[in-house]
Amino acid sequence: MKKTQVAIVGAGWAGCSAAVELARRGARVTLFEASRTAGGRARRVEHAGRTLDNGQHILLGAYRDTLHMMRQVGIDPARAMLRLPLQMRYPPGTGGMDFIAPRLPAPFHLLVAVLRAKGLSSADKLSLARFSTAARWMDWQLDIDCSVDALLDQFDQTERLAQLMWRPLCIAALNTPPERASARVFLRVLGDSLGATRNASDMLLPKEDLSTLFPDAAIAYLEKHHGHYQPGARVRSLQAMNRQWTLEIEGNDLPSASFERIIIASPAPVAQSLLAPHDSALAASLQFEHEPITTCYLQYDAGIRLAQPFYALADQPADNQWGQFVFDRGWLDEAQAGTMAVVISASSEAMQLSHQSLINAVANQLAAVFRDPALASPVWTQIITEKRATFACTPDLQRPTNQTSLPNVWLAGDYTAGPYPATIESAVRSGLAAAQLVLASMH
Ligand SMILES: Cc1cc2nc3c(=O)[nH]c(=O)nc-3n(C[C@H](O)[C@H](O)[C@H](O)COP(=O)(O)OP(=O)(O)OC[C@H]3O[C@@H](n4cnc5c(N)ncnc54)[C@H](O)[C@@H]3O)c2cc1C
Repeated sequence: MKKTQVAIVGAGWAGCSAAVELARRGARVTLFEASRTAGGRARRVEHAGRTLDNGQHILLGAYRDTLHMMRQVGIDPARAMLRLPLQMRYPPGTGGMDFIAPRLPAPFHLLVAVLRAKGLSSADKLSLARFSTAARWMDWQLDIDCSVDALLDQFDQTERLAQLMWRPLCIAALNTPPERASARVFLRVLGDSLGATRNASDMLLPKEDLSTLFPDAAIAYLEKHHGHYQPGARVRSLQAMNRQWTLEIEGNDLPSASFERIIIASPAPVAQSLLAPHDSALAASLQFEHEPITTCYLQYDAGIRLAQPFYALADQPADNQWGQFVFDRGWLDEAQAGTMAVVISASSEAMQLSHQSLINAVANQLAAVFRDPALASPVWTQIITEKRATFACTPDLQRPTNQTSLPNVWLAGDYTAGPYPATIESAVRSGLAAAQLVLASMH
């Protein structure tokens, strides 16, 4: 293949995947990243000498392409992540449920999990079995999209199951509340987890920080394969000139640079502003509504350890209880013993509170549900809110393809068309798809 010059804008998981695939196939790639740290919305952050993530992430065994790309750049997913069976476990004695899939082949893992689940009445269990039978019969697909709430009504789900299982799963997976979330995308995600093989349904918790987990290794791979990485280089505009694209770059005193082909792997709003001068209709199609995610880190004495790596929490905003999941990072990395990460997805309401009020509320919630007064007094805290964490995954949402109307310009990112909501897997798949289109354009 003729060596060609490809620019990729953005070193998130989409841009890094595109870079690795292109470099692997012999293309000359330059990867521009505005920030100093690679990884985008799944990246490492440093706070007061501590290494954290911009937000707690869970991957699934079903993330086929993500796991493949990790291996491609020398990361062993089995070492880098803690693999847990599919579960929804509330702290004991809080009136929640305890659902955990045993190590059995599909679909028995699910069946046995339902039968054994604690905290559910027979009506709840029947309702859960009904859901999974109907969804399996539909092959986890929905022709006419509707809200998740409407789907739960159609499937006659009990109120308790909706509150303890479907609502938290929907918010965690789609970052959109069930009254506004797409039932089609929700079913698809469930099909790849609840409805799939036991391995696919496993939950994977990173032991490494999120930049180490893939983006840093992807960049090392790129550089080993004759590519270039430019951190701290914000692409401000694209200009077409003599069948080439010139990128105007801010930061790092970099001169503008020209490329034959470009993949824009930035978040949708940045792609929108880069494309607006060239195709206003295309730019308009990149307008999304976004949902925030807040992660509250609370540091306790290193001796404090929850009985398992993570728990679901019943959030009751009316009672000042905001946490939806708590992760004990000490289970993942001994150096983080005593650090809890409490996740609040679709957090626009929680964001109205001051940091101190939110921290107090979350610490009191932990102390109450785990019946441990020590949890009310963390020694150190940090709140990280990503205001545009994901697009709101609403019914019938139109998402752009990787193709654009501009010659030799492609899009990559979690927001492009695909079966998944905004996730690491959708970003990786999109990066790979864009790289395939670039490669096809060279022949
Ligand atoms: C708090 C939080 C929790 C999440 N939890 C999960 C989870 O549990 N599981 C899961 O699968 N997904 C989760 N997600 C979603 C997942 O992180 C994203 O879907 C994914 O990281 C998006 O990757 P991307 O490459 O498409 O975009 P991005 O990560 O946004 O990458 C775009 C990159 O482009 C760079 N950039 C922007 N403008 C420019 C410019 N002008 N020039 C050069 N570079 C530029 C950015 O700095 C960034 O590095 C979560 C997201 C957040 C924020």
